[in-house]
Amino acid sequence: MDVIDRPLYELARLLESGEVSAEELAVEFLSRINKVDGIVGAFVTVDREGTLSGARMADKARRAGEAPSHLAGIPIAVKDNMCTRGIETTCSSKMLRGFVPPYDAHVVERVKAAGMLVIGKTNLDEFAMGSSTENSALRVTRNPWNLQRVPGGSSGGSAAAVAASEAPAALGSDTGGSVRVPASYCGIVGMKPTYGLVSRYGVVAYASSLDQVGPLAANVRDCAIMLRVIAGHDPRDSMSIDAEIPDYEAQLGRDIAGKVIGLPKEYFAEGIEPGVRDAVLEAAKQLSKLGVEVEEVSLPTVEYALAAYYIIASSEASSNLARFDGVRYGHRAEGAVDSVSMFMKTRAEGFGPEVKRRIMMGTYSLSAGYYDAYYKKASQVRSTLKSDFDRVFERCDALLTPTAPTTAFPIGERIDDPMSMYMSDVCTVTANLAGIPGISLPCGWQDGLPIGMQLLGKRFSEATLLQLAYAYEQAAGYPSRKAPVTKDRGCCSCH
Ligand code: GLN
Repeated sequence: MDVIDRPLYELARLLESGEVSAEELAVEFLSRINKVDGIVGAFVTVDREGTLSGARMADKARRAGEAPSHLAGIPIAVKDNMCTRGIETTCSSKMLRGFVPPYDAHVVERVKAAGMLVIGKTNLDEFAMGSSTENSALRVTRNPWNLQRVPGGSSGGSAAAVAASEAPAALGSDTGGSVRVPASYCGIVGMKPTYGLVSRYGVVAYASSLDQVGPLAANVRDCAIMLRVIAGHDPRDSMSIDAEIPDYEAQLGRDIAGKVIGLPKEYFAEGIEPGVRDAVLEAAKQLSKLGVEVEEVSLPTVEYALAAYYIIASSEASSNLARFDGVRYGHRAEGAVDSVSMFMKTRAEGFGPEVKRRIMMGTYSLSAGYYDAYYKKASQVRSTLKSDFDRVFERCDALLTPTAPTTAFPIGERIDDPMSMYMSDVCTVTANLAGIPGISLPCGWQDGLPIGMQLLGKRFSEATLLQLAYAYEQAAGYPSRKAPVTKDRGCCSCH
């Protein structure tokens, strides 16, 4: 097996034993990117020089017995809405083209403190708004399983990079499903942590009460390792929680017999593709063979969650995006006669259609006379939904659902129909509204496309979710499958 196809935990072992050097690893991944990224389109920036020099430093430190951690020298990909000192951070928007942050996001600091290298920045839906990465102003990202399909979004570049073996792991952000949906479409593992577990400092804000950074990786163990790297208290994020971070990896092998998993009936309702539903129910059977008790539960408020999510997320976005005015960051329109026309022109030119749609929807929901009918109502749905979850978690250790209603859809299919695009998030937005953790992992394939299942748990139950996911993954024999783009000359549809 090529080194690029090895799990991250094995790369760490190979580095520690000296069987491979960080420099060799960097060269391998960079040449993989060279070979396939013209087709896959996962990256918007690749930091070749920085990665190579960082790798040499990691090798030197390791030889001197001074490596900052066993992960030192492993390259990872970072979604381009996280600030990276000295490297352009665009949010895949014209608005931020040319913005080079003078500082690192907390998660990037953490990755670097472990000695890991940021190999490049990945494509996303502009400002993380979307479910397919088609809203990027910079490039198209293709699904490595089928190049005519979307990789999911908004962290589509991060998911595609991992699925195409361009990086062993990646960071994404998840406001309503943006780590889990692309993980599901690309046949990998992705986790959205409990709100407050990972600092949002230096992550360009979309909807601050929902945003969380999470890892994407080829398997559950790697996901556990990456979560531990990025989790932890940061006083610069007022919602960051000061709690002990467990060694998630060390706890993976625990017996899951006797755990109770609920199947919320609302997530298996109309609109879920039969193939997806069947694969998730099959996974439930597999889990019960492992000694888990599976039972049907109900969360009646789920029906209203998607509508509530799009009102809350757009409202917060309309306020957060007010800062992009041509004065402080990125793009500034030319030829304006006064400051007001400069703001207007800058925003008209800098933002794409979906971002404008969200700003308008959000401003409308927050305006006098409509606030009670929209924003306030949505907030009420959010608290009722939280109570629904609290109730089922009195009995269940986790809930099992599909991650998305369908597998990856064709590029172009939903881009002109916002409602059908929003429907992609119907299974994931609930975790963000309730602040609870969720993980997506592969549970089958249909017509050559991966199907993802989602496990949800109560706040700070990441260790339990990872144990359940790991036990399932081991029993099911995933993820032994590799996206076809890794097998041939770089393209699965034209060989
Ligand atoms: N698709 C959802 C949206 O567009 C979620 C995006 C996200 O999680 N960043 O808002």
